[in-house]
Amino acid sequence: MKIIDGKALAQNINQRTKDAVHEFISKYGRSPKLSVILVGNNPASEVYVSSKQKKCTELGIESNLIRCDNHVTESQLLNTIAALNLDQNVDAILLQLPLPQHLDSYKIINSIAPAKDVDGLTDANLGKLISKHYGIVPCTALGILEMLKNKKVSGKNTVVVGRSLLVGKPIAQLLTNLNATVTLCHSKTQNLEQITKNADILVVAIGQPKYIKAVKRGAIVIDVGINRVDGKLCGDVDFDAVKDIVKEITPVPGGVGPMTIAMLMHNTLLCAKHNMKNNK
Ligand code: NDP
Repeated sequence: MKIIDGKALAQNINQRTKDAVHEFISKYGRSPKLSVILVGNNPASEVYVSSKQKKCTELGIESNLIRCDNHVTESQLLNTIAALNLDQNVDAILLQLPLPQHLDSYKIINSIAPAKDVDGLTDANLGKLISKHYGIVPCTALGILEMLKNKKVSGKNTVVVGRSLLVGKPIAQLLTNLNATVTLCHSKTQNLEQITKNADILVVAIGQPKYIKAVKRGAIVIDVGINRVDGKLCGDVDFDAVKDIVKEITPVPGGVGPMTIAMLMHNTLLCAKHNMKNNK
């Protein structure tokens, strides 16, 4: 069994981004800029935002954090985003999810200008994914694709478990675009074990610790889940139960997580280049 080392892969991608950021700075006289909006004080979101900002600093990307109170109104948040959309010095906007219940996430996400939508979650960017005219591709899906880069995907029986807009649907679509034969499973899927057992490539993003135990011999398994059990992180796949059956697997931590952040940095630079081209 081989471990797909997301940490090492992410380091390579980050180095390339860092070099490209230096080129950007010498060409345009400023750093690419990411604005992060954090609503409320969800402890997990605080951790994610701080690691994203730390990575920005490491790579020479400017980031600023806009904190909104847990009780922020929809119109206040929409106004904040509208101002960032208009600000030519802001290249990319990241709205940390989840939002508190009283806010309409769909409406708020879609108020972000598609060219600054660094997470690729607006209808415009998700639509482009379907038509293969890629705009900004969601970071986790892009990271998974990088992990599968040198592996044969075309024609493979590929199973994605989880159908969120953030992970499951975009990766299922990207793999379909690459000619994989994709089955998309979710909480209403019957006989899930029979389906996962037949997957040459299995991607799991469900948020259920160590849930998946049935895999095909020789499969490639991408475990997106990040769960905390008894103070320790684990994935959605039962690593110990499958490690002697699979051919390759991503660990948790150190798998998809670092790749997501690396692709966020990559997308920020992409937004910045696009912004400079458009505002010449
Ligand atoms: P969501 O809660 O938005 O979606 C979960 C999906 O899993 C839903 O489609 C749900 O089905 C499905 N599901 C839940 N339980 C089961 C089950 N028992 N059997 C089959 N399907 C099930 O989660 P996200 O997609 O946002 O995140 C999933 C996991 O990935 C989480 O652990 C999250 O922390 C992690 N994550 C990791 C990232 C990384 O960088 N490594 C980035 C983003 C997320 P239904 O639609 O029917 O409800």
